[in-house]
Amino acid sequence: MYNLKVIIIGAGIGGLTAAIAMAQAGYRVEVYDRVQQLRPVGAGISLWSNGVKVLNRLGLGDQVAAIGGCMNTMEYRNHRDEQLNYIDLHPLFEQVGQRPYPVARADLQRILLRACGPDRVRLGMTCTEIEQDASSATAIFANGHRATGDLIIGADGARSTLRNQVLGQSVERCFAGYVNWNGLVPAAADLCPSDRWVIYVGDSKRASMMPVGGDRFYFFFGAPMAPGTQVSPADLRQELAQLFQGWPPAVERLVQRLDPATTNRLDISDLDPLERWVQGRVALLGDAAHASTPTLGQGGCQALEDVEVLSRYLLTTNIGVADALERYQQARQDRTAQLVLKARKRAATIYGHNPAVTQQWYADLRQEPPSAVINALTATILAGPLA
Ligand SMILES: Cc1cc2nc3c(=O)[nH]c(=O)nc-3n(C[C@H](O)[C@H](O)[C@H](O)COP(=O)(O)OP(=O)(O)OC[C@H]3O[C@@H](n4cnc5c(N)ncnc54)[C@H](O)[C@@H]3O)c2cc1C
Repeated sequence: MYNLKVIIIGAGIGGLTAAIAMAQAGYRVEVYDRVQQLRPVGAGISLWSNGVKVLNRLGLGDQVAAIGGCMNTMEYRNHRDEQLNYIDLHPLFEQVGQRPYPVARADLQRILLRACGPDRVRLGMTCTEIEQDASSATAIFANGHRATGDLIIGADGARSTLRNQVLGQSVERCFAGYVNWNGLVPAAADLCPSDRWVIYVGDSKRASMMPVGGDRFYFFFGAPMAPGTQVSPADLRQELAQLFQGWPPAVERLVQRLDPATTNRLDISDLDPLERWVQGRVALLGDAAHASTPTLGQGGCQALEDVEVLSRYLLTTNIGVADALERYQQARQDRTAQLVLKARKRAATIYGHNPAVTQQWYADLRQEPPSAVINALTATILAGPLA
């Protein structure tokens, strides 16, 4: 279809990438976000090869490579500092044709915003409602502004307002039983080798570091906890020091070196797979459609895959907008539902929902041949739209 006008709600990874793809298709694009200033949520993100391929196709490959960490190997260790598993990732790169890139979210956002064109993005605009008729769809904002186009993309994240409109009801997010802390620290050899993703596991908790561009490590911790706990930045280091007391020296050093003021702390939730993502001329994309726990590192990558598939149907079919959106939903629902449920199961295993299962997982990690890990990662990546 030609000459479409696309209204995008949300300027996160999904919304900005959708804007780039739609603009490259020759469509007129307007992006709206409720925040006054775009700031990335979270410190880092692993762009697995399936996500990187979407960015490559949009002409951003060199820029992403420039901000990406050089992750050549992966290592699991336990909280007694014993190696459980060590995986050379080069066979993965060869099988899928593209290396993954851990990146700082602020760097990724800068690239996406520049490619989208900042003039296309209007901030301080909270979408509250949508209307549509046979020939157009209109987003209505809290300040009374109305934006009308041929279609609306709801890329407004896990707490999506547009999702309620598409479904005709709100859906509860499901708390995954744990808290995640994440941030960036300067790279240092006494924390982690500069080309390795290290994951420490034990006692139903995790601590991890991986390289991102700019000579930094993206780190995260995870520990089981009741929902709704809050800790001030002033107390955050002490909280982590207690939770990870007696862990390997690199983990204890990380706790001492992180900056509590810039460390994020959040309850992790996901969404049950949704029955529908599309209503007429309105389509959900990214976390609005399929928010996941981050245990596979695929949430953002799935938003990128959504963009690839949605833009392809808009470009290559000509029955009509609603038809293209239905095809998009059809193509994406199973893939994302499987990953959400797999990530949920993995979160339960990692964070001790059933301690016997978690203990068995630690034992399995020692036995698992690296080729099995590579094959599992390959299968996930090659099941995407840009195999
Ligand atoms: C701890 C953690 C680690 C993760 N790690 C990874 C990883 O390694 N790899 C990976 O691929 N994924 C990862 N993810 C998942 C990834 O962060 C998300 O899937 C991705 O950010 C979703 O992007 P989005 O554009 O759909 O939503 P968001 O990034 O949430 O953007 C939504 C935007 O919509 C705006 N908005 C919301 N409501 C409105 C409204 N009513 N009107 C206007 N604007 C609105 C918001 O301000 C926001 O800017 C992780 C997630 C977490 C929590």
